[in-house]
Amino acid sequence: MLNIDLHCHSNVSDGLLPPAEVVRRAAAHGVQALALTDHDDIAGLAEARDTAREVKIDLINGVEISTSWGSHTLHVLGLNIDPAHAALQTGLETIRQGRAERARRIAEKFDELGIKDSLAGAYALASNKSLIGRMHFARFLVEHGYVKNLRTVFKKYLVKGKPGYVSHQWAALDDAIGWIRASGGIAVLAHPGRYQIGKMRMEELLAEFKEAGGEGIEVVTSSHTVEMTTNFAELSQRFGFLASRGSDFHGPGESMIELGRLPDLPEKCQPVWHAWREAAAA
Ligand code: AMP
Ligand code: MN
Ligand code: MN
Ligand code: MN
Repeated sequence: MLNIDLHCHSNVSDGLLPPAEVVRRAAAHGVQALALTDHDDIAGLAEARDTAREVKIDLINGVEISTSWGSHTLHVLGLNIDPAHAALQTGLETIRQGRAERARRIAEKFDELGIKDSLAGAYALASNKSLIGRMHFARFLVEHGYVKNLRTVFKKYLVKGKPGYVSHQWAALDDAIGWIRASGGIAVLAHPGRYQIGKMRMEELLAEFKEAGGEGIEVVTSSHTVEMTTNFAELSQRFGFLASRGSDFHGPGESMIELGRLPDLPEKCQPVWHAWREAAAA
């Protein structure tokens, strides 16, 4: 079976490695086709593409867009997008500006907690100054000895209800799906098992996602338990979604799963990559 990994991050967003190194590492781990899916930015794709050509693997243009659906933050993968598409670029630019504004509010919270200079500290750890996220704050807190590891920073400070968390309005779900589709891509709901949404509400979400033009869901991903994988494989069939597989790799030592080291999709799933691989072969 094709070793395909359709979800990972470089230091263009909150990953640790430059795009070229992500691609080299994927190739070294036997990945044959890779989508680089940085949060809200596509600036790493050109470098990734050059390296992919060099190491002879397929590079799929991707992005992971931050969206709001009611009070929930949902991540939507755009796979096989056109990075030159104007509406997509403008939409992502707006989200990045929102991230900068959110970062100032997060830093104010840490200030009140007596943790000083976190804004400068987080930016110092961001290779791409126009893409700042919670992970950069988390690394700052670990590196300065406030907390022992990333997991604990999130648990103690950065998730909903904790003192360093600020709520934020991301792109509307419909808009993000619209940009992806307009640029020729396929919209895939990332790690659906992570959202802490009950069974009924999840079915409403999947119906709305489909209605808005979403075509796939991530079934195999590092944050899914075996039970979640089985459950979302079943839901993908029931709702007529294509199924995706991605590690969500962020860097050596920080990720639960290595690039490409994932179980295969369950047999009954329709692989999302057939949509463009068959089109290319025809
Ligand atoms: P942001 O998009 O800036 O709100 O940050 C979300 C990112 O933080 C995710 O993509 C992960 O990389 C990381 N993250 C979120 N929750 C956790 C967690 N509980 N533990 C570790 N990393 C997390
Ligand atoms: Mn991330
Ligand atoms: Mn995500
Ligand atoms: Mn991700």
